[in-house]
Amino acid sequence: MWCDTVTRDGEPGPRLGVHLGMGGRIVVTGPDGEHGGGEPVRPDRTPFKAAWDRFTVDFADGGRLRLFDKRRLGRVRLEPDLSGLGPDAEAIGPDEFRARVGRGRAPVKARLLDQSVLAGVGNLLADETLWQAAVAPSVPVDELDAAALDRLYVALQRALKAAVAGGGVHTGEVIPFRHAAAACPRCGAPMVHGKVGGRTTWWCSDEQAS
Ligand SMILES: [Zn+2]
Repeated sequence: MWCDTVTRDGEPGPRLGVHLGMGGRIVVTGPDGEHGGGEPVRPDRTPFKAAWDRFTVDFADGGRLRLFDKRRLGRVRLEPDLSGLGPDAEAIGPDEFRARVGRGRAPVKARLLDQSVLAGVGNLLADETLWQAAVAPSVPVDELDAAALDRLYVALQRALKAAVAGGGVHTGEVIPFRHAAAACPRCGAPMVHGKVGGRTTWWCSDEQAS
């Protein structure tokens, strides 16, 4: 992710690029030190101890942004190279989505994860989107018709907005069912998994059969 900044004079400042690595989390606290945004506090996960802060920004009001990263694989860069990124997944229109995602023969999940096609779709969001649209993750994109691509587009926009509102992609409807012996929360068929585009992928064995 990256953050646009402004200088004290209101001019555009440098961009701050943040790579979360495998387990990095962004935590924002307010002037009182209370949790104010970013990764939600969850009792089942490692507490955000200051010893594992990899990077912090102190705000004028006393608040703080931290990159909490126990595994230390995260990175922060000033002026990151964004030239290889496609358009923001949330800003793209349906026509451009159809043209960009529908091109080639890659499995649709691999295409959604390709940041040069669309920027901002990670593994969980891709699984949520494909499940919402009832599209098989391994189907080659050139076998998707316009209606299926439009369904994917609508599902992606809905999943993105829900993730932002809910506090993260882990709040997706199908995410709690990405495990062995789980049933699809919509139709009750077994959830199944495999590797698609090099990533662990879960899908409904009935509605998303390829
Ligand atoms: Zn299902």
